[in-house]
Amino acid sequence: MNDDLAEYRQKRDFKATPEPEKGGKTGSEPIFVVQKHDASSLHYDLRLEIDGALKSWAVPKGPSLDPTQKRLAMETEDHPISYAEFEGVIPEEEYGGGTVIVWDRGTYEHTTGEDNPVSFKEAYEQGEIKFRLRGDKLQGEFVLVKTKQQPNSWLLIKHRDEYADARKNPVSSRPESVLSGQGIEEMAENGS
Ligand code: MN
Repeated sequence: MNDDLAEYRQKRDFKATPEPEKGGKTGSEPIFVVQKHDASSLHYDLRLEIDGALKSWAVPKGPSLDPTQKRLAMETEDHPISYAEFEGVIPEEEYGGGTVIVWDRGTYEHTTGEDNPVSFKEAYEQGEIKFRLRGDKLQGEFVLVKTKQQPNSWLLIKHRDEYADARKNPVSSRPESVLSGQGIEEMAENGS
């Protein structure tokens, strides 16, 4: 598991982008964040705290609460913990240029192998990571399953539990930031 931030730093010029270079506090429970990112194409970045960094996946269609929906999730480089607080505008010419809002955040519990627990690292290496989210828009258990189609390609699927609901679609019904209440267009105009 590549859990250092060298790739993250290498891709960015911190004199030009408002994104954080490093840092961030870790609490007693690991955090997750989903950032809506209007870059060259709109996507949702799911990030899970593990070993002092945020493991990250870009989900083009965003998370679904419908267990029959398998959402493509492309693994991207680890981000610093402080990135979970970031929303704003990344200059167009910079890596990932575009607007970011914090669409959801909270804490999570790693649940792979509930009866026979394995570490996050083992789950990651085996290509199946189960976790329970405690966010504002997203709650309950999800799974990330690695596919064999292309490297870095995973599927994000809602587990069947009391939070699964095929009728709810928070990606469209609750588009705003949980931090500032702004939509992505407002953030693009206001810049912060
Ligand atoms: Mn992104």
